[in-house]
Amino acid sequence: MSAEKGLLVVVSGPAGSGKGTVLPKVMAAGGFRFSVSATTRAPRPGEADGVNYHYLTREAFEARIAAGDMLEYTTYCGNYYGTPKKEAEAVLATGCNLLLEIEVEGAANVKKAYPDALLIMLLPPSFAVEEARLRGRGTESEEKIKARLAQARHEVEQAPLYDYIVYNRDGEADRAAEDILAIVRAERLRTVRNPDAVQNYFA
Ligand code: 5GP
Repeated sequence: MSAEKGLLVVVSGPAGSGKGTVLPKVMAAGGFRFSVSATTRAPRPGEADGVNYHYLTREAFEARIAAGDMLEYTTYCGNYYGTPKKEAEAVLATGCNLLLEIEVEGAANVKKAYPDALLIMLLPPSFAVEEARLRGRGTESEEKIKARLAQARHEVEQAPLYDYIVYNRDGEADRAAEDILAIVRAERLRTVRNPDAVQNYFA
């Protein structure tokens, strides 16, 4: 086999990028595990502890940081978000790709700690669509929506730091998911990721 190690795949999508539609399609293709992040934000209706996030108090989150349990973490719109380290490393050791859906600062920190990580930015169809979607969700106050939109614009500006940009054009979520799968498939075959590939292949 040419590729034994799982790839650490980081996908950042500003609010409204449609990552909630695109990433389940990527997961459905198989070969990926999704990293369940920890957060101090409250669950939204329909979200479940251990499925969407591990919901922690600030004290519990800070204790996990102090214990070195977070592969990366950040504060986003007033709440902590982080990737539990043990779970992530266990998945990668199985050879499965690990998908982290995290914001830009966390992505940059992952790249520093794991230079092999693959960074993909998913772009929304437009900011107008994004704003309408956030309001339609009806779960956030006006002030929070404004903060999220400002954050989204900031995140889009970071796109050049990513290895790949995937465009989630209106009504083309399938295409965006296929693009992510194509990127990961090609990356797993890169010579530099598999220095012993030829020898192993003919062994
Ligand atoms: P939301 O509150 O909408 O679920 O997530 C807000 C932002 O936090 C999103 O951009 C999401 O990608 C990011 N996020 C979720 N989990 C993590 C994490 O573990 N680490 C970091 N750095 N960002 C995260």
